Amino acid sequence: MTGSGQPDEESAAERKMRFLYALRSRGVTDARVLTAMERIDRGHFVRGLFAERAYEDMPLPIACGQTISQPSVVGLMTQALNVQPRDTVLEVGTGSGYQAAILSLLARRVYTVDRHRRLVKEAGEIFRDLGLVNIVPMVADGSFGLPDQAPFDRIIVTAAAEDPPGPLLAQLKIGGIMVLPVGQSDTVQSLIKVTRLAQGYDYEELRPVRFVPLVEGLGNE
Ligand code: SAH
Repeated sequence: MTGSGQPDEESAAERKMRFLYALRSRGVTDARVLTAMERIDRGHFVRGLFAERAYEDMPLPIACGQTISQPSVVGLMTQALNVQPRDTVLEVGTGSGYQAAILSLLARRVYTVDRHRRLVKEAGEIFRDLGLVNIVPMVADGSFGLPDQAPFDRIIVTAAAEDPPGPLLAQLKIGGIMVLPVGQSDTVQSLIKVTRLAQGYDYEELRPVRFVPLVEGLGNE
C-alpha cells in the first residue's frame, strides 16, 4: 500500500512486490514457483468487475459460476507438486487458465481440461496471446483423466471430489505426484498429496482448503 492508501495508485512494481510478499508470508517459498508466479500476471485471467482485485490474495468469480483460486493456494499446490522441467502434467479444472499458465513455465507440457467449453476457449485465447505454446486445453470430464495422453508425471485437480478419482490414480506414473482437494463441497476439504509408489500410493494431508466441486459430465456453456 502506498502513502495515499489507494491500491489503484500503486505502481505495477509495488503491486508485484506486495503480491509476492503475500505469497511468501503464506508459505510459498520455492524459488521456481515464485519466479513463475512473478512472470504470469494474474490480471490477464480476471475480467470485468473483479479485474482490479486480481493482485489480492483471494479467490475471485470467473465465468460459468466458477472461481479463480486464491494465489497463495495456487502457489502452495504448485510447490507441493514439485514439477520437473521434463514433466508432462495434467490439470483437471482449467477455470481461468491461471494455474495452467504457471505450470507451463515449470513443465514440458501441460494438458488442462475443463467441463465448460467457454472456459476452455477463453483460457486457450489467453495462452495463445501469452505465447504459452506448451499448454493443451481440452474440453473433457476430468474425473476420467485423459487416457490417450496418460500416464502423467504430475496431476493437479482444482475442484474437490469426495475421494481421489480412480482413473486419475491409474494415470499417474510410478514416482508421480497428484495434488488435489478432497471432501464434500461446502464442508471441510483437505488438500492432499498422493505419491504413486512401486506398489500402492502414499497419502499426505497438507492443509484445509475450499474449492468448487468436481462435477460429472460436461457443462452446457
Ligand atoms: N484452476 C483454475 C480454477 C478452477 S475452478 C484457475 O486457475 O483458474 C474449478 C474448475 O473445475 C471449474 O472451472 C469447473 O468447471 C471445473 N470442473 C469441475 N468439475 C470438472 C470435471 N469433472 N472435469 C473437468 N473440469 C471440471
